[in-house]
Amino acid sequence: MAAPPVQSLVLSFEDARRVVEEQASRAAAHESQTVDLLGAAGRILAQPLVADRDFPPFSRATRDGYAVRSADLETLPARLRVVGEIKAGIQKLISSPLNPGQAFSIMTGAPVPPGADAVVMVEYTSAHGEWVEIAKGVSAGENIVPQGAEASQGSVLLERGTRLNEAGIALAASVGKTKLSVFGRPRVAVLATGDEIVELEAQPGATQIRNSNSYSLAAQILQAGGEPVLLPIAPDEPKRLRKLIEQGLQSDLLIITGGVSMGRYDLVEQALAELHAEFFFTGAKIQPGRPVVFGCCGKTVASRKYFFGLPGNPLSTMVTFELFARPVIEALGGGRPHPLVFPHARARSEIRVKTGLTRFLPAIHSGKLDDSYVEIVPWQGSGDIAAQARANCYVVVPPDREHIPAGEWVALMLR
Ligand code: AMP
Ligand code: MG
Repeated sequence: MAAPPVQSLVLSFEDARRVVEEQASRAAAHESQTVDLLGAAGRILAQPLVADRDFPPFSRATRDGYAVRSADLETLPARLRVVGEIKAGIQKLISSPLNPGQAFSIMTGAPVPPGADAVVMVEYTSAHGEWVEIAKGVSAGENIVPQGAEASQGSVLLERGTRLNEAGIALAASVGKTKLSVFGRPRVAVLATGDEIVELEAQPGATQIRNSNSYSLAAQILQAGGEPVLLPIAPDEPKRLRKLIEQGLQSDLLIITGGVSMGRYDLVEQALAELHAEFFFTGAKIQPGRPVVFGCCGKTVASRKYFFGLPGNPLSTMVTFELFARPVIEALGGGRPHPLVFPHARARSEIRVKTGLTRFLPAIHSGKLDDSYVEIVPWQGSGDIAAQARANCYVVVPPDREHIPAGEWVALMLR
């Protein structure tokens, strides 16, 4: 029996994003696997990273100079007796405390001796045999990081669910991890639809176009930590489309592109409805990407599979992936979805749009440290991949604005 027509449910951009974040917070993460330290770069930690010792493990000098008692430098210039040298990696910690009137010559990364409470930079000193003359005072604690100040032994340095960037890898190295437990990558099926779409190997006929969306999506899925699974192109024909959707639902997530607009041959929503899909929304008040669909199939929470139906226009596909599909992939991969952040820059030229939709306009953000600006890329609408490929961000225009004068600060979404 055919399913009844799908009820339209069009949300504001903010509401649609909130729905996605809510669902993402319920998504079950993949199983974990053990990988080499370098293989863990960009992956999501499945174990907390714990400090195996204090960080730093000893009170560390952060400058080359002299370890002193700061009280000895109240009258300047001060003359102190140099009682020894401490270099980084010194075999034994100094045990006898520094007495008043004494200093140790000390190097960056070396342990500060007991009794010393500051390090004077070598630039403010002059050595005279066993004496050093110091021209500048220091306050207690200056140029020293006390033992355990960064982290104490046994404390959690990084939580499970954190994506490992270069600092995370450094941290794992600093606690001696040669192997790490990370979450497996979720498998994300990609289904391109449309009678006019052909595979890359085929020579397109006069009215056909090559399937580019499956590849932009695969690239975005990889960046989001997923593993793309490209399905054959689905024609605009219900039976075959439905078969391929069922095949896609075997993966952890299904992303369909095309076939979600209002045309007579936009059959995706109906095909999903026949598979008893639940729809969280069937549109968002954004441009490009208004007909975006989000929902799930599966009766029980355990068997639940999320899907997205993204509009087929190449730019719409890329924007809606970024706004809505990425957080779900991040969550399925065991991570905490990145919150959307909108840095600002000045518009180089005025911007005019119609009101009613949140706009994501491909743009180039450039400039200097103290003069950052953004310029909309001239484009022919949401099919213009060449314009998109030149851009490095989107300017985000709220739905109530129709004119933004040149020089105004505008919100960006970086890519
Ligand atoms: P649709 O969302 O199916 O109405 O498609 C909207 C536009 O996007 C049409 O011009 C399609 O030809 C184009 N399009 C759809 N799917 C793809 C694809 N996989 N690769 C490139 N362009 C596509
Ligand atoms: Mg189509």
